[in-house]
Amino acid sequence: MGTLDGKVALVTGAGRGIGREEALLLAREGAAVVVNDLGGEWDGAGADPRQAQAVADEIVAAGGEAVANHDSVADDGAAKAMVAQAVDEFGHLDIVVNNAGVLRDKMVFNLATEDILTVIQVHLMGTFNTIRHAAAHWRQRAKQGEEVRGSVVNTSSTSGIFGNVGQTNYGAVKAAIASVTQIASMELGRYGVNVNGICPIARTRLTLLGSNNISDQDGPAVEWDPIDPANVAPFVTFLASDAAAEITGQIFGVYGGSVQLYRGWSLGPELRSSGGRAFPVEELHQRWQELFVAEPTAYRSPMEDLRPALQADLKQAGLTS
Ligand code: NAD
Repeated sequence: MGTLDGKVALVTGAGRGIGREEALLLAREGAAVVVNDLGGEWDGAGADPRQAQAVADEIVAAGGEAVANHDSVADDGAAKAMVAQAVDEFGHLDIVVNNAGVLRDKMVFNLATEDILTVIQVHLMGTFNTIRHAAAHWRQRAKQGEEVRGSVVNTSSTSGIFGNVGQTNYGAVKAAIASVTQIASMELGRYGVNVNGICPIARTRLTLLGSNNISDQDGPAVEWDPIDPANVAPFVTFLASDAAAEITGQIFGVYGGSVQLYRGWSLGPELRSSGGRAFPVEELHQRWQELFVAEPTAYRSPMEDLRPALQADLKQAGLTS
């Protein structure tokens, strides 16, 4: 008995890295999986259908159910077809894991328009595309009187939530994905669908800045490997299960043996004009510091803990000395 017996999942970007581990574990827990992956390079160039097929074959060889899909999530028609493929092959769709991603890291003054648009297309539009078509499927079933239990897990990033130098394009879409998560959860709850997001940290070619040297099959260098991408999958599998149906609109940090609930924007100190009307400019110059009293403890990136392991990987891949 698996925790996801009878469920059908679509995982985007599941040909390698974090998505591959998510697809494998969802299948081990009993879900039939549509394994989507364009199979391109880390920056979005090219395509290779073998990437998705290999993971689907691996699931089937292990006794699970899976089909491959090698289209781009950036293409709305292709995303619609992915949802249709799940329904045609397995009868319905219950779980969408939006994971596909590329990187075009540059300082803001070096960004070409294409670097921004590519990242928007794959991450943000990719997330919108699958959610819209999956939500239409769930809404239609709910309107026909069926008791729907749908689940969406989006992939955000600490770059979007807390910021990261060199990633204005990527961070912006990852923050937007957190907003999509929050608002879609408000809209889809009435149809029996929960929507959450994760900010993972794991060793993949994206954390190795585009190196293809790293193999997804590489075993951990040490007995406990905190940046193994397989560490992310258990929590995603949990979020997709019926046990997590009440959890919605949340963003979680997930890495190693840690799951952390992130809290979004919250109200801080307020400054009110002494006259009760619009601030005279002079008063703002005199009193602005009052907004910054009693600030909570500064955010500490989990990268601080993981940096030694990441640096060892970069060295092994020949990217640093
Ligand atoms: P990865 O490169 O190993 O995997 C990404 C996969 O997405 C690849 O297999 C790629 O072929 C696929 N893909 C790219 N464009 C696609 C498209 N248009 N359509 C379908 N598939 C496409 O990298 P990863 O680190 O496993 O990244 C997975 C997700 O996790 C991404 O959204 C990434 O931004 C996010 N993320 C990763 C980390 C990390 O530490 N690795 C941190 C924060 C967020």
